[in-house]
Amino acid sequence: MLPNYAYFKGSIVPYSEAKVGVMTHSLNYGTAVFGGVRGYWNEEEEELFIFRPMDHYTRFLNSAKLMVMDLGLNAQQLTDITLELLQKEGHRQDVYLRPLAYKADELIGVRLHNLTDEVTLFSVPFDRYVSNDTGAHVTVSSWRRVDDNMIPARGKIAGAYVNTAFIKTDAVRAGFDEALVLNVDGHLSEGSAENIFMIKGGKVITPMVTDNILEGITRNSIIELAKEELGLEVVERHIDRTEVYLCDEFFMTGTAAQVTAVTKVDHRVIGTGEMGPITTQLRELYANVVRGKVKKYRHWNQPVYEKMIVK
Ligand code: PMP
Repeated sequence: MLPNYAYFKGSIVPYSEAKVGVMTHSLNYGTAVFGGVRGYWNEEEEELFIFRPMDHYTRFLNSAKLMVMDLGLNAQQLTDITLELLQKEGHRQDVYLRPLAYKADELIGVRLHNLTDEVTLFSVPFDRYVSNDTGAHVTVSSWRRVDDNMIPARGKIAGAYVNTAFIKTDAVRAGFDEALVLNVDGHLSEGSAENIFMIKGGKVITPMVTDNILEGITRNSIIELAKEELGLEVVERHIDRTEVYLCDEFFMTGTAAQVTAVTKVDHRVIGTGEMGPITTQLRELYANVVRGKVKKYRHWNQPVYEKMIVK
């Protein structure tokens, strides 16, 4: 389903008017950065809550900075535009928001500098991303994750998602739900579009931010919930491939994937072969937090309809 509206060239316009020419730099060279944000509908409160928009936009601006972009907007302004757009759309269901900043010039020449940067934003209704999210079977991809000195994984850079697309397509065509991706040095980095966590001996273990991962907002939320609410120790370190085969529980996190339990890796059963107790608890907690149902974490929930900009 297509959106009704998009933010485009400084204002909110009908989606059909948000168009670019085929010579556009970012279409030819992948010179764009994006975000992925979810809005969760809360039926009791009849409110749509955007999850951690300021954190998403801070990362979006950092991605833009890596790409020598000047967007002329700060995180608060981007959040305000988002609220206005969502109010106009009037969604009463879960949604996915896609902010995109791109090199908009229609010219030939690969570079980052001396180009015009534009920002666009749209939203679509959204449900589940990984269909088998309580018992995914994943493979270790034969592709390697882009290295920081090739295309920085800490930025959500459009061109780098060709790496993700190779990883995802080959995994799905081979019959798996998702893939785990090794760094050039052979340690695990993340999933195709998710951060990864393993539980071993009651500890929560996840790759470090210097392991060519995107620093996920969900990752950050899960680390905080695991420490604060479940009282667990969280360790950020390199993870070897075969540690995963032998761990007690394994899950992936992402805005789209939420908390996806992995119960098999390359035909090897993880733990009991069922979603484990820590994964189950974190999954439930996260599901309540994102929908604005946990008071302590309400500062992560930005209501859309509370203050109407659009009358
Ligand atoms: N890694 C990659 C490569 C991703 O594309 C995503 C999805 N944005 C994530 C991790 C998870 O990040 P977040 O929790 O912020 O969605």
